[in-house]
Amino acid sequence: MSMDPAAELPFFYGSISRTEAEHHLKLAGMADGLFLLRQCLRNLGGYVLSVVWNLEFYHYSIEKQLNDTYCITGGIAHCGPAELYTPIRLSLFDSMKNNMLREYVKQTWNLEGEAMEQAIISQAPQLEKLIATMAHEKMLWYHGKIPRQESERLLYCGAQTDGKFLIRDREESGTFALSVMYGKNVYHYQIIQDKSGKYSIPQGLKFDSIWQLVEFLKLKPDGILTVLGDACVCTAPGKLPSLPTTRRTGPNSYTPAPQAATAKAVRPVSEEHVLPMDCIGFNPYHNPNEIKKLNLDRNKLFIDEVELGSGNFGCVKRGVLETKTGQLDVAIKVLKSDNEKLMKEEMMREAEIMYQLSNPFIVRMLGLCNAESLMLVMEMAACGPLHKFLSSNKDTVSVEEIVNLMHQVSMGMKYLEEKSFVHRDLAARNVLLVKRQFAKISDFGLSKALGADSEYYKARSTGLWPLKWYAPECINYRKFSSKSDVWSFGITMWEAFSYGGKPYKKMKQAEVNSFIESEKRLACPAKCPERMYALMQECWIYKHEDRPDFKKVEEAMRSYHYSISNKVKPLGAVAAAEPDMYP
Ligand code: AMP
Repeated sequence: MSMDPAAELPFFYGSISRTEAEHHLKLAGMADGLFLLRQCLRNLGGYVLSVVWNLEFYHYSIEKQLNDTYCITGGIAHCGPAELYTPIRLSLFDSMKNNMLREYVKQTWNLEGEAMEQAIISQAPQLEKLIATMAHEKMLWYHGKIPRQESERLLYCGAQTDGKFLIRDREESGTFALSVMYGKNVYHYQIIQDKSGKYSIPQGLKFDSIWQLVEFLKLKPDGILTVLGDACVCTAPGKLPSLPTTRRTGPNSYTPAPQAATAKAVRPVSEEHVLPMDCIGFNPYHNPNEIKKLNLDRNKLFIDEVELGSGNFGCVKRGVLETKTGQLDVAIKVLKSDNEKLMKEEMMREAEIMYQLSNPFIVRMLGLCNAESLMLVMEMAACGPLHKFLSSNKDTVSVEEIVNLMHQVSMGMKYLEEKSFVHRDLAARNVLLVKRQFAKISDFGLSKALGADSEYYKARSTGLWPLKWYAPECINYRKFSSKSDVWSFGITMWEAFSYGGKPYKKMKQAEVNSFIESEKRLACPAKCPERMYALMQECWIYKHEDRPDFKKVEEAMRSYHYSISNKVKPLGAVAAAEPDMYP
């Protein structure tokens, strides 16, 4: 794995979150100017400088420029992250961008905490693009196309405080206008857009989005009479919270959770623009105890005859689970009634593992139901196994989409690694799709929880094992660890980038073993990007101690995913005036 240019710096903390950075700075005493450098979670090759000033935290993103220099937005270029730490220029726009992103995710999907972090990490480029293009439409201060007189009527209604404002579309020109109250009068400002699409008040600073411009004008009047204050709220019916698209509609429709009613924004979702967070499986229950039960009431479970798949335990059927808040589509693993005892124990073990896991990129268990047979009820991943999906959609699924999906799988595996679980059966057949943009790891039939102080699990004897997915130490010593899951992740990547191809297709297992022992590896699939093949090869490093862990694998997947996703315009500001005018 290529060495991070900042790795040797004593103040470099690697890939830690904003919260973790603040925690370290707190522990170090919060002195003015105390700082650390960390990897930017959302920007390829970028960093974030976290600094303390006046007992407050400031986070400046350091971007890698096209010519390989680094700079803080609006600042001077430096040849590497190490040279950057002396002249610190406050970049208001970066913290503004981060706050906006968080606010947008919070409002649109009603997410917070870990679910919000996972949403942002997995979809940062898509989210930045959304914010840059259409986020203002979700803001309560945005009124769409209303006449100037109507804007005045709205602003004069109720409190007439200085700075009360709204944004509207100008009727004739297709541009925007800002209407703002000052000294009990309403003033109108045209918002101009330059040739490159940037917005500004005439002679003011230019911004990539209307939302950024508004946020900036809340801090600095920049050519208008007053800073912006309270929003003159648009109460149009469209401004309601969005609902996950997989919720049921019709007579048995799902009622949104009460928390959702307090969210402010709406995002119309067309099928091809669905994000994982638009699906109910991203964060299906705010209170896990609400439906995660070990003894589900049989009367609440409706089982279809449709079989989704089968295995030697029995079959997986489609169904519906009735919960307090509505109906959920579910997949039900039904145990064959004949070979009972052993199978039952195995299913209970699988349920026990799944019960302890909760991550958007892992199929969640919703409960167990012991009725006509033992049934494991799971959230539904309706688009089925990854390898089948890819082989039947070769012509339409892009490499970028595969990278996005495999990044999600790496996030799920990183979570398992952190919780000390080994999966032991990671393969494209066990990555299920909720939507074509949303993957989840499934099948915990072989999984094990590692003891508190053991790095690996040693199987007593061999079994029916997916050997072509297994690392040498699994085959030679029956030793399983997160590092052996990393090997399987490499094979899963290979399957994905070969659109559902079979690894070592015509080879017998003994041939595969000697192939690996003689340092040969699977070839690069035709459409696979070089960087992705390089990562696969790292996953297939013979000695497990030299292989990257999932923390590293996820980082590598993330940085590649961000670098190719949509090539989003950065959300920085362009100074129409001197940079020193920045507050
Ligand atoms: P498994 O034994 O867990 O690998 O399940 C066998 C097959 O059932 C899988 O290959 C899928 O086709 C299907 N299946 C399992 N779990 C789910 C699920 N949660 N949602 C949709 N299909 C599933």
